[in-house]
Amino acid sequence: MYISKTREFGIFGRGDRAELGLYPGQRLENPYSGNVVDICPVGALTDRDFRFKARVWYFSSAPTVCNGCAQGCNVDLHFVPDRPHLNDGARVLRLKPRYNADVNQWWMCDEGRYGFGWIDKGRITKVHNQGVEATWDQAIGAITTELANLRQSRTGTQFGVIASSQLTNEDLFLIKEIFQVALDALVTTSVPERPGYSDDFLIKADKNPNTLGASLLGLSGSDAPDAAGIVEAALQGHIESLWVFDYDLAKSFGIDTVEHLSRRLRLLVFSGPNENAMTSWSHWVLPAAGYVEKDGTFVNCHGRIQRIGRALPPLPDSRAEWSILLDIGRQLGLALPWRNPQEIFAGLAERVIPFAGLSYDKVGSRGIALTTIVPAARMPAS
Ligand code: SF4
Repeated sequence: MYISKTREFGIFGRGDRAELGLYPGQRLENPYSGNVVDICPVGALTDRDFRFKARVWYFSSAPTVCNGCAQGCNVDLHFVPDRPHLNDGARVLRLKPRYNADVNQWWMCDEGRYGFGWIDKGRITKVHNQGVEATWDQAIGAITTELANLRQSRTGTQFGVIASSQLTNEDLFLIKEIFQVALDALVTTSVPERPGYSDDFLIKADKNPNTLGASLLGLSGSDAPDAAGIVEAALQGHIESLWVFDYDLAKSFGIDTVEHLSRRLRLLVFSGPNENAMTSWSHWVLPAAGYVEKDGTFVNCHGRIQRIGRALPPLPDSRAEWSILLDIGRQLGLALPWRNPQEIFAGLAERVIPFAGLSYDKVGSRGIALTTIVPAARMPAS
């Protein structure tokens, strides 16, 4: 095929005998194979992953962006929000590419297309403290007390934050404002990641959708510590409390390190949508909304900022990170005058140069290229 460059698929026969098919001995198993279903002119080719799961007239559809790699392909999310007896209760049924001439045209890769299982499976559904169910009030109260103590004793560097580039710019901006700017904590999004498969079309080795956004905010790169340094400082006793946002430390540092951190630290918080080794060992576990359950923006690897929209409501008892962070910041008495992602983005555009002058309206449904890609810097006080 022209897009996959694999040439296993063709039209055989002529006129009313013409048939779509595979060349002898070939299988359709290239990284873009799902696109043949989208382009089949008569709907004869269907997708085994999707077939018979639900009637299409039960569907809702919402535009969003794939979080599977740094390309940020535009997609439509098809879901059934209110029929839990279908599809084993999973709300999301399929992803389809959404046309964007500047990002993915009509296409998307199979890894992104079929990689949405995490949205409905393996989710954290309740706040937990030391393995016991707790409330949001208890969690926010306990974490804020620890942060207030650090603030009073001016020992912010004893607090570490390791955040993932799966978070939106709005989440990361609040992490920066609260932890780095107000509390002088050590904050990073530089986590060890093994590069994945890539090609010269869409698929990128960086499997995070917002690595460039995090870098523009100054949370990775030469100005920021890295996760290995923060973990080491915690193991050495220089950091007493750690908050990990949506990243499984066991993946990079091993389960023994996570267990050791859990025993060594005064406070270990994990927030994220899905269960992993961190949920077993963190003192506080906070259920976070998945990215399709909140509004916000990502910056793709080409410097294009795109809105992800809010396709689905968060699961009951889970909250978007921006909302958790606003609560924490306000309880600490910080001036955070924003109420929603749109207002947080306005604050970000005022304070971080590469985003200057932007708004959700300007970003629109197809995104916009950041014209000033420079190392993140705070604007001088006016
Ligand atoms: S190329 Fe990347 S962003 Fe695009 S669909 Fe695949 S995983 Fe998602």
